[in-house]
Amino acid sequence: SSVRIPELKQNDELGDLVNEFNGMLDRIQRFIDQQSDFVQDVSHELRTPVAILEGHLQLLNRWGKDDPEVLAESLSASLQEIARMKSLIQEMLDLTRADQVDVQFPNAVCDLNQIMEQVVNDFKMIHPDFVFILDNDLEGPVYVRMYRNHLEQVLIILLDNAVKYSLTRKEIHVSAARNSDGVALVVQDFGEGLSNVDRERVFNRFYRVDKARSREKGGNGLGLSIAQQLVESYHGEITVDSALGHGSAFRIDLPTITAEEAAHLREQADK
Ligand code: ADP
Repeated sequence: SSVRIPELKQNDELGDLVNEFNGMLDRIQRFIDQQSDFVQDVSHELRTPVAILEGHLQLLNRWGKDDPEVLAESLSASLQEIARMKSLIQEMLDLTRADQVDVQFPNAVCDLNQIMEQVVNDFKMIHPDFVFILDNDLEGPVYVRMYRNHLEQVLIILLDNAVKYSLTRKEIHVSAARNSDGVALVVQDFGEGLSNVDRERVFNRFYRVDKARSREKGGNGLGLSIAQQLVESYHGEITVDSALGHGSAFRIDLPTITAEEAAHLREQADK
């Protein structure tokens, strides 16, 4: 942009300073572009519920007052749209907060093994029609440097999706194992799966494979973006392995720490 300082092409301190300054400008520009993309995406996503709401209110205004059936139906549809907008707003807030959480929670530590068991048990209770198989190679606690609620949130997003996108085989496998880098946790379903193209895109915000169907299921296309931002902020990685028609396996890799390091962090946090 016009504020950039022309490169000096000299290898001294002044040259370095100019490069540093220009680099900073580029980063600011990228940040501004990202923000403006986000505002565009959000406006686009809000347009649908607002249009539906408007439609129902117009209907009510014209006929609804005299027709109890229209009245009841439009009111309930309007309330449903409002509930959707509320969940969209909550998820957008989650997304903006999911950045740099490692800096906000420098002493965070939790036991992945315990949280995994707890979340799977919760799901067993909420979805009695599903079979959840916990295939757990971990023995005892597995400490990761993550704020407990955030790990729970990531697991809930993955399990929610596994349930939502399962078809007739209502079976979900959750497994975890240690490896040389830390720990790997996998949530596998046997549902609709993802095509090669969609596999690349599911982590993009607001991306839904089938807009209409996902919308029916209450999806905003933000769950996996939130999960990815959280995991990556804590120096982990989230990946997917999937085949169309066969199901999907979402995998989280996280670095682990020893019990001594975990105890030390907890002491720090208590101070
Ligand atoms: P949503 O709230 O719509 O589920 P997500 O960001 O969690 O948003 O997921 C984005 C899209 O990825 C979903 O709309 C769905 O099309 C696809 N997807 C996510 N999880 C799975 C899964 N386990 N199996 C098949 N498709 C999935």
